[in-house]
Amino acid sequence: MSLSTNNYRFCPQCGNPLHNSELYGQIRSHCTACSFVFWGNFSLGVGGVVWHEGKVLLVQRAHNPGKGVWTLPGGYVDQQEKIADAVVREIWEETHLQTRPLSVIALRDRPGEKHDTYIVFLLEYLEGELLADPEEVSDIGFFTLEEAQALMIAELSLSVIKASLTQRLQGFLPKSGVAMVGGERSVLYQIPEKT
Ligand SMILES: [Zn+2]
Repeated sequence: MSLSTNNYRFCPQCGNPLHNSELYGQIRSHCTACSFVFWGNFSLGVGGVVWHEGKVLLVQRAHNPGKGVWTLPGGYVDQQEKIADAVVREIWEETHLQTRPLSVIALRDRPGEKHDTYIVFLLEYLEGELLADPEEVSDIGFFTLEEAQALMIAELSLSVIKASLTQRLQGFLPKSGVAMVGGERSVLYQIPEKT
């Protein structure tokens, strides 16, 4: 039984000291004065594969970790933002291209101090001229697979690019307004339904 990672000593909701005890099968920090339970640190990122005229969009990281490495464009998802909106926003911010999400084609999972999940979309290029945001990227461009392979490129990016080029499967497609247990509506990404 492990203690879920916890940097907090006091309840972020009411300010009382947190207590460590078993809750739902693990030792977890929780507040006995209110209902707060510390479930862990999670981060959610998105990236996008955008092909245009036989070339794929890549950005060169301007900051560490991985400064100088070429990757798919992308970034972190905001709390109230749909993942599809986040990937369009991040690609716009980094490259000034307009894109439209088609499907989810990959997912990276990395539990740790912060449980880090990264979802990769396939997107359609719509319009725009490449204009790099110097705050986030030091260079951008469209590359053939051969050109991409010659770059200092992230293993994940190259793996997904290769798969998206050779594989005609669409990936997970979004379906809006799917009712969750409890009644709220969500977007469901699933394998295509047969028609
Ligand atoms: Zn509390």
